[in-house]
Amino acid sequence: MQSIDSSMEHELREHLAGQPCAFCDDGRLTAGTYKGNTAMLCTNCGTPTVQLW
Ligand SMILES: [Zn+2]
Repeated sequence: MQSIDSSMEHELREHLAGQPCAFCDDGRLTAGTYKGNTAMLCTNCGTPTVQLW
């Protein structure tokens, strides 16, 4: 099944991946999971930045 949500999720992930972390100096955002949901996590401090889906 294809949904609008999966397309938006993909675009959001593409847009945010590699962006600098707002909570530390060295981190970059990467797709991961937080509390069982897909989220953008900092590679350095592990802070989840986006958890929309
Ligand atoms: Zn960070």
